[in-house]
Amino acid sequence: MKDSNFLKENNARHMWHPMGAPGDALKNAPTIITKAEGVRIFDIDGHATVDAVGGLWNVNIGYSNDAVKRAISDQLERLPYYSAFMGTSNDVAIELSYALSEFFAPDGMTRSFFTSGGSDSVETRLRLSRQYHRLRGEPTRTKFLSLKKGYHGTHFGGASVNGNARFRTAYEPLLAGCFHLPAPYTYRNPFDETDPDRLAEKIAAVMVDEIEFQDPRTIAAFIMEPILGAGGVIVPGARFMPLMREICDRYGILLISDEVITGFGRTGDWTGARHWGVKPDLMSTAKGITSGYFPLGAVMIAGRVAEVFEKDETGQAAIFHGYTYSAHPVGAAAATVCVAEMQRQKLNENAAARGRELHDGLKALAAKYDIIGDVRGGHGLMAGIEIVSDRAKKTPMDIATMKRIHKATYEAGTMVRLVGHTIVMSPPLILTSDDVGTILASLETGLAAA
Ligand code: PMP
Repeated sequence: MKDSNFLKENNARHMWHPMGAPGDALKNAPTIITKAEGVRIFDIDGHATVDAVGGLWNVNIGYSNDAVKRAISDQLERLPYYSAFMGTSNDVAIELSYALSEFFAPDGMTRSFFTSGGSDSVETRLRLSRQYHRLRGEPTRTKFLSLKKGYHGTHFGGASVNGNARFRTAYEPLLAGCFHLPAPYTYRNPFDETDPDRLAEKIAAVMVDEIEFQDPRTIAAFIMEPILGAGGVIVPGARFMPLMREICDRYGILLISDEVITGFGRTGDWTGARHWGVKPDLMSTAKGITSGYFPLGAVMIAGRVAEVFEKDETGQAAIFHGYTYSAHPVGAAAATVCVAEMQRQKLNENAAARGRELHDGLKALAAKYDIIGDVRGGHGLMAGIEIVSDRAKKTPMDIATMKRIHKATYEAGTMVRLVGHTIVMSPPLILTSDDVGTILASLETGLAAA
C-alpha cells in the first residue's frame, strides 16, 4: 500500500467520483476512509467518527461482523464465481433464495431474481412489470407512475422514474411514458397541506386523475419508496401507502415497493411496506441484504405475479434480462449469513428503539436551533433535518453554510450526509444509545458553527 502522502496527493486526480463534479473533487479533496470498526469509520489521519451515514444507507450490521466476513472468504475459496444463466446454478444462491422466500413471506413475496445492486433491481422490476402485463394479454400497459422526490437509482429506467431533476436533466431525454405525482412531503407541497392524511388524499386524487387521463389500460406500475430516502427522508402518513395500494388494485396497476434502503430492518420493521401494512407486487432490494460487504441486490416477486410467468402458455415468459453477476456465489454467501445475523440480533427492534431516541433528540435540537426547519424520521434509523436560514419563510440554507455544519459535525465525531440543505442520517442498525448521544452532541456542535 502506498503511503498517506501519496494517497492524499493522488486523491481525486485519477478517479472520478459518483454524484459530484470532477473539478470540485480536485479542489476539495474527498475524505479518505481507511478503516472501520463497529459503527465507526477512521480517516487517513486516524480521526474516528460514528458513521451516521451507515456507508450509504447500507451497513446495517456495522463494519465488524465476523460471520459475514468468514462466509465471504470461505466462499471465495470454494467457488469464487459461476454464472446462473442458461442451465447452471450454484448451491449458495439456492440457499439464499430459500432464506429470502421465508424472510419475505409476510410480504407475500415468493421468488427472487438476483442482481448486482439497487439500480439493477429497479431496472429488472420495471422490465418484469411490462412483461407481466404482456403475458396477461395487456401489452398496452407500458407506462410508469412514481413520486416526485423519489429516488430509484441511476440506470435509464430508474432515472426516468426518479423524481429529482438533479439526477435527470443532464441525461434527458429519458424513457418515455413516465409520470410523476407530488411527494407525501408535508413540509413543502403544492397544496400547502401539513396534515399527512389529508395530503395522502390529495395526492391520491392527483393519481386517479392522471391514471384516467393516461387511460388505465396503458399503465404498468406505480413505484414508491415506503419512506423516501435520498429525497431527504420523507415519511408518508400511515394512510399513504395503503391508499396507493387501493388505487393500484382498482386500476390493475402493479405496486412496486422500492426497498433498497427500507428493506432489512431500517424502518424498524423488516420491510418498509410491512411497516405500513401493505403487500406490494414486486420489491427491489439491495444495500442491507449484504450490509455492503459485497455488491448484491434481489428483486422479490409476489406469488400472484410469479404465477403468471410460471404458468405461461404463450411462450413469451423467458426473462431475456440478467446480469453476469446475478446470483453471484460470494454475494449469495454474504447475504445468507447477513440476513440471518440481522434476524438473530433483532436489528429491526434495535432500529425502532434507537430511531425513537434519535428522533426525540433531533426534536430537542430543533427547539434550540431556529435553523432546523423540519425534523423527519421516527420510524427506525432514517432521519432528516431540513436546515433553513429563515424558519417562517422556510428559506433553504445556502450550501456554504451546510458544508460548514457538515465539517464541524465531522470534526466533533460524527459523519452525516448532506442532501442539498437537508442533513440525512442512516446509521448502522447495531447503534447503541451512547452512539445516539454522540451523534446528537456532534450535530449540536455542527449547528452551532452555522
Ligand atoms: N433505489 C433506492 C430507493 C435507493 O436509495 C438507491 C440507492 N441509494 C437505489 C435504488 C440505487 O441503488 P444502487 O446505488 O445500489 O444502484
